[in-house]
Amino acid sequence: MEQQHDEKPLREIRINPIVPSESVLVATARSMRPRKKEEPAPRDTRRHVPECAFCRGNESQTPPEILRQPPGQNDWEMRIVENLYPVLGNEHSQPGIIFGLQQAIDGYGRHEVIVDHFQHGIAIHEMSPPHLQGLFGLYQQRMAELYRMDARLRYVLVFKNFGPAAGASMAHTHSQIIATPVVPQNVYDEVTNSEQYFKRQQRCIFCTLIDEALTYEATIYARDSGHVVRKINVGQYVVERGQHFVAIKPFASRYEWEVHVLPLRHQSNFLEVSHADLADLAQVLQRTMARLDAVIGGAQFNFFLHTLPQGEEYQPCQPSYHWHLEIAPRTSIPSGFELGSGLFVNTISPEQAAERLRAVVL
Ligand SMILES: [Zn+2]
Ligand SMILES: [Zn+2]
Ligand SMILES: [Zn+2]
Repeated sequence: MEQQHDEKPLREIRINPIVPSESVLVATARSMRPRKKEEPAPRDTRRHVPECAFCRGNESQTPPEILRQPPGQNDWEMRIVENLYPVLGNEHSQPGIIFGLQQAIDGYGRHEVIVDHFQHGIAIHEMSPPHLQGLFGLYQQRMAELYRMDARLRYVLVFKNFGPAAGASMAHTHSQIIATPVVPQNVYDEVTNSEQYFKRQQRCIFCTLIDEALTYEATIYARDSGHVVRKINVGQYVVERGQHFVAIKPFASRYEWEVHVLPLRHQSNFLEVSHADLADLAQVLQRTMARLDAVIGGAQFNFFLHTLPQGEEYQPCQPSYHWHLEIAPRTSIPSGFELGSGLFVNTISPEQAAERLRAVVL
């Protein structure tokens, strides 16, 4: 029904332009769906839960507090606490711990939890842009502090699991910080591959993809009949646009509703975003999440901040790497085929997904 008359069911393998070893099968015919639609437990939407350790008034029930915003106030907006069940401790060596894509970490790291908002079950799109601006400022502040505290750290990963389908163990809205002496494999691949692209093309591949998303126009003809198969239109991958940030649907999305938010102007490091620009980021994110929530009907998702790793050895990658926020809403369970082959199957064409997200009236 949603398919336009000139769009036949799609079945093609798309190569991730940044990490070519990652590819996705876009297969839109119903018969191609290998995944079970996920029927997640509904997320907890209560504003305050008396027995929740992350709700106001229960501060003594959490692990030690690192900081709160605003400082010293009982009616805080956000808090950072130590993780009760750390993946990593900073006291002793834990060789062989598995992190991300089979990355072995030797020894040092920190794991912290950010209570994003004092309201228990509030979703990102329900938070005010000034609150989100403050939250991203808090991410920056804590990342910078952790890097200052230990020169061995190479990456501070900030991520969020929202909703039971996304693996959130606590219903109260929160983000997590994992600081490690190694760079997660997927970020490392992005950094090294984009550096190679830069050496060949003298351009940042992310900037190139943003330009394509904003201006790309192409007509694809059937090889045998010469008929128009598909028209790719200007701005087809753009979901939301602000003054300094853009939300785009990746051409080779692994997840049906995956969206990436990037700065429009080249910038390698999230720590360099000015406080004023964070306001625009907050606006773009808030509107993007509202679109996702409207289309999916209660978005449960993971997001990950990908930024230039710390350390001298990564400084040459400043012109080639471009920080971004990856949003991965969870709507289906990866099949055994996907997990086994590493080939993700996306059953909605990224072009149509972007169109539906754009069509939401906010
Ligand atoms: Zn709570
Ligand atoms: Zn760039
Ligand atoms: Zn990334």
